[in-house]
Amino acid sequence: MIGSRMYVYKQDPSIKEPGLRSTFIPSEVLKGPKDQLVRIADVPEITPDENGDFLIDLVEDKQSNLDKLRLQFDAVHTFAVCRQVLTMYERAFYRMGILKEEDKNERGIFDFRKKWGKRLDLYIRAEKGKLSARYTSGVHTIFFGYKKDVFTCRSFDIIAHETGHAVLNAIRGEQKTNHSKEAIALDEAFCDLTAIFTLLSQMDMCEAIIAHSKGDLRTTDDFFFSCIAEEYGVDKYKRFALRDISKKYKYETVVANKKYDQYDLSLVFSSAVYHFLTEVFKDHFYPEKYDPAETLFWLGKMITEVTLGAYYEAASELHYDFKTIAKKMISLVQKVERKEYHDCLNKKRRWEIRLLKIFIEHEVL
Ligand SMILES: [Zn+2]
Repeated sequence: MIGSRMYVYKQDPSIKEPGLRSTFIPSEVLKGPKDQLVRIADVPEITPDENGDFLIDLVEDKQSNLDKLRLQFDAVHTFAVCRQVLTMYERAFYRMGILKEEDKNERGIFDFRKKWGKRLDLYIRAEKGKLSARYTSGVHTIFFGYKKDVFTCRSFDIIAHETGHAVLNAIRGEQKTNHSKEAIALDEAFCDLTAIFTLLSQMDMCEAIIAHSKGDLRTTDDFFFSCIAEEYGVDKYKRFALRDISKKYKYETVVANKKYDQYDLSLVFSSAVYHFLTEVFKDHFYPEKYDPAETLFWLGKMITEVTLGAYYEAASELHYDFKTIAKKMISLVQKVERKEYHDCLNKKRRWEIRLLKIFIEHEVL
């Protein structure tokens, strides 16, 4: 059986004590861990057990060994989360069926490796004293900083966000990047959404989100996604929790503030996408017929496809701005809508109209 089991930190804020969980990577993972796409680059190679699994157990009574175990655990955890993001996007591309021939590998899957020209390197203890992580496209590497007992590589949202930058690099290539504030904001929005999409691609997280929100994703006072990973010390510094996109950010309001930066601007776009999710979720909320967690899981996949597809299609065009991506999302949403199988409270109201209205409301269109 190909694939590996790995232990990762369980990123569920509803669990009082941070725990571990196992996860399955359904492709071949070699010692490192590394595979065709990703490699842990700054830790002595970890060898899988005889079943091909990487089950590093953080047992507190092995004190003499604990630092080494933690380092190994972090390596496996970081590899696993990064790989989950890439696999999620490979599948979304596959379902969409929009890939150009030259972008597919022999199995018909998006060819990250060819686009990158090398593996994505992960340095999990890169920068001492720095509570930040960054993807550097020149060397195609993610560097994770750490300070005292806080390690940014332990945060699911940080790994997912930085992996999002590497995904954009594959989609667009280095030469296409323009450095306008809006272009950088679009990148940041994609990466924040990547963290949310990756959570929504896990069924147990969908259940936790439903329990937390009681099925009303529109509540703005307690944004579930911002609580992720706080147990790992990140939230202590109030710097890394996922940006709260549950409020409605409008374009003109953001740019009216003279000090706005690309991160503020990114919220306009990411919050619009998030609002689309909350609205279609409400339309499909029939707990007597469908488990709401299942509905959320399915809608999460739909919005992942539409967002990824829009960035992919925009890559071959001249313009990389809010309007271009928004229009592409509206046209792509019709494509995925045809696959709809759940009842909808408001059948007549088509998804593309709904998405158009939201982008207008956020002053993107
Ligand atoms: Zn970023």
